[in-house]
Order: sequence, then structure tokens, then C-alpha cells
Amino acid sequence: MLKTTTVVVGAGHCGLAMSRRLADRSIDHVVVERGEVAHSWRTQRWDSLRLLTPNWMTRLPSYSYRGSDPDGYLTAPEVVELIARYAKESAAPVRANTTVTSVRRDDDGYLVQTDQDVWHAKSVVLAQGANTVANVPELAAGVPAGITTLTPAEYRNADQLPDGGVLVVGASASGVQIASELHRSGRPVTLAVGEHVRMPRTYRGRDILWWMDATGMLDERYDQIPDLVRVRNLPSMQLVGSPERTTVDLNALAGVGVRLVGRLAGIRDGIAQFSGSLPNIITLADLKLQRLLDSIDAWVTATGFDDVCPPQRFQPTAVPDAALTLDLRSGAIRTILWATGFHPDLSWLDVPVLDRKGRVRHDGGVTASPGLYLMGMPFMRRRNSTLIDGAAADAADLSEHLVRHLAHS
Ligand SMILES: Cc1cc2nc3c(=O)[nH]c(=O)nc-3n(C[C@H](O)[C@H](O)[C@H](O)COP(=O)(O)OP(=O)(O)OC[C@H]3O[C@@H](n4cnc5c(N)ncnc54)[C@H](O)[C@@H]3O)c2cc1C
Repeated sequence: MLKTTTVVVGAGHCGLAMSRRLADRSIDHVVVERGEVAHSWRTQRWDSLRLLTPNWMTRLPSYSYRGSDPDGYLTAPEVVELIARYAKESAAPVRANTTVTSVRRDDDGYLVQTDQDVWHAKSVVLAQGANTVANVPELAAGVPAGITTLTPAEYRNADQLPDGGVLVVGASASGVQIASELHRSGRPVTLAVGEHVRMPRTYRGRDILWWMDATGMLDERYDQIPDLVRVRNLPSMQLVGSPERTTVDLNALAGVGVRLVGRLAGIRDGIAQFSGSLPNIITLADLKLQRLLDSIDAWVTATGFDDVCPPQRFQPTAVPDAALTLDLRSGAIRTILWATGFHPDLSWLDVPVLDRKGRVRHDGGVTASPGLYLMGMPFMRRRNSTLIDGAAADAADLSEHLVRHLAHS
């Protein structure tokens, strides 16, 4: 059996940020990775995907963006390059092509079984990713035979799909980006819209994320949020990172001819049934956007920040006359894309820290099992915990906690 102080599971940016913090604190550790560094960016992203966060937001411990386009958006291969370079510069002790098959407690810490060997460690950091498995709703069982179905993790480009209409289910970042791309490929696209977070790409002359960063919204802490369960389940922002800095909200999509319908509520006898609540959902998303812009304006006034364009307000989202049903047997829809979110794969975790839904119970990334930590979960310690930009602060806090744990164990 091999021994180390800490095993970090996963060499995405979270695992590597933690590795860097552990190295800074001289904690002996290994980072166990089932593929290569940045595996999910190599294998689970579509061809045209760019980060929706600007390049200056790729801040990691002891690393910041060095290119010539801080306001641009990295492509997926560029993200791979960035993460791989970070791992190399950090001399991260990555064990690549090694899959963790079980983590369980023993008297003195944890036994980490991999497909290569067994590690004993006093602590374990679960950095296996929040977005490993795409969610597919149970109602998918009712999709008639002959319709191609796929998830954003499987989607690469429009050429992969049969000709004909596409139903994209889910209007968050992945759904709106892929719906827009498929529409540009000449396919008729229907987008089923549930709860969503409307965002303009730019506001008052700056990237919306610049404002969220400057006003401190992205750093809001988990222990200052009244309804943590709700915010942890919020969908991703309707944003795309494109050189043209386009906004990809429902008005933009409807404007080019994407057909909007409500949330997909069921499929009965081959007929897709959509919720009639789309007008309410749209009103709510517009209201939340309004509140966001109001708080940015209030910050500008309060700080006296003057390097800024005047306030803007965006057109309310036009409420479509949305169909409530769609006959999936008619041949009009040849493909369904489930853009309905992701969840982690923790099937190998044999420590009793999971809730009824299979999610790790934690307090800001600290689990109830001493020495077991999490990284990269939605709003784990801060609003930006799932973003590349959030890993540095989270890893700093959790590595500090881990050091205290080691001192007392
Ligand atoms: C489509 C999409 C777009 C995104 N866009 C942005 C963006 O614009 N900006 C941004 O900041 N964030 C973005 N994110 C969110 C986030 O930054 C990424 O999901 C990121 O990959 C998460 O980093 P991570 O290190 O937590 O997990 P991952 O990058 O998924 O890394 C986890 C690693 O763990 C490994 N692993 C998993 N299980 C095991 C095991 N059992 N044994 C060994 N290794 C294992 C995996 O192979 C993987 O390499 C996006 C996410 C998605 C899905």
C-alpha cells in the first residue's frame, strides 16, 4: 500500500488549485486522475464552446492570464492548454490514467482504491467535478423510437445530427448556446424553456461578469445567503463567450427564428407536453435581471465610479404564443438534446456523507467525515465556486482547514 498525507481526486482546475495550495503548505499529496489533466475539457465539450467567463477570470493560485486578450473567451482546447500548463508549472504530482474506484475510512484516515494501486491518506479532497454526468429526465423514456437523443457532453457539432428539427430541452448556458448553433446550421429549432437566468453579455460598456466581480457578487459567501439550497440549484447564466460579445437571451433566439415553448412537463403517447407557465417564468427572469442591474447602478452611485457608460435597460422578453404540445411522431423533430444540467459521479465514494439524492452533505466543502473535503460544487463556499475563478479562494480556505485537521489527528 502507498502512503501520502492527502489524495486529491481529479486533475481539473479545482484539483490542481488545491494541489498548489497543499504544496505551498508543504503537505505531501498526490492528484489521482482517470484520464489526462483537464480530462473533462478534452472529452466532454462541444467543438465551438468557449468559456463564458472572460480570460482575466482564469485566475488560479499563483497564476493569472498572460495572453494578449484579457477580455476574450478561451476555446475548449485553449482551456486544456491553460490547465495543462498550470499543472506543469506547479509541478503537480498528478497520477494520470488512474481511476479512483473506492474511497473509504479506516482507523487512521482513508483508503483510496484505484485501478492501479491502493493509497492510504489522512485526508482526501474530492475534486472529481460537479459536471461529470449530464442529467436526463425520467420522461425521456417516452421519446418515440427513431428520434436521436443526446446530451451536451455528447454533442460535438451540428454535422453529428440527422437533418430535420431539433428540440432542445433547457435554456441555460448549454441549451441556449447549442440551440443557437443548431439554428445557424439551418435546422428548425424548438427550445423548451424552464427556469433560467437572463443575462446581457455587456452592461454599461463592460462585460456583465466584470460588474459581478467588481461589485463583489461573485465572492458572496455561502454562509451569508438566506436560501442556500435554492441558490445551489440555480441554473447557469444564459451567456455565451463569443468574439462579437453577443447576448444569447430568449429575445435574441426568438428574433432569429428559434421557437420557444415552456418547460417539457411530460411525453404521453409520443406527444410532448409543455408547461403553460412560460409567461410567469419569463417575467421572473426579467425581474431578476432588473434587480441585478439596479444593484450594479447602486454600486456605481455609492462608489462614485465614473469610468462608465450611462445605465441601460433591456427590452422585456417578448412572451411567445407558445404551443403546449408537440407531436414527436410527426417527423418534425428528429433530435432531442437534453440540456438539463449535470451532476457529479460519486458512485465510488464509500463514506456515509451522501444525502437522499446522492449529493455530498457539506458545510462550505467540509464534510462531516473528518479530513474529507469537496471542491467545485455549486455555491460551495462562494457564488463563483464552480467557476475557474472561484477555485483559488476555496482551495485557500479548505487547505487551511485541512492543515488544522492534520494537526489535531
Ligand atoms: C459546458 C460547460 C461550460 C463551462 N463553462 C465555464 C466557463 O465558461 N467558465 C468557468 O469558469 N467555468 C465553466 N464551467 C464550469 C467549470 O469550470 C467546469 O465544469 C470545470 O471543468 C470544473 O472543474 P473541476 O476541476 O471541478 O472538474 P473537472 O474539470 O470535471 O475535473 C474533474 C477531474 O476529475 C477526474 N475524475 C472524475 N472522477 C474520477 C475518478 N473516479 N478517478 C480519477 N479521476 C476522476 C475527471 O477525469 C476530471 O479530469 C463550465 C462547465 C461546463 C460543463
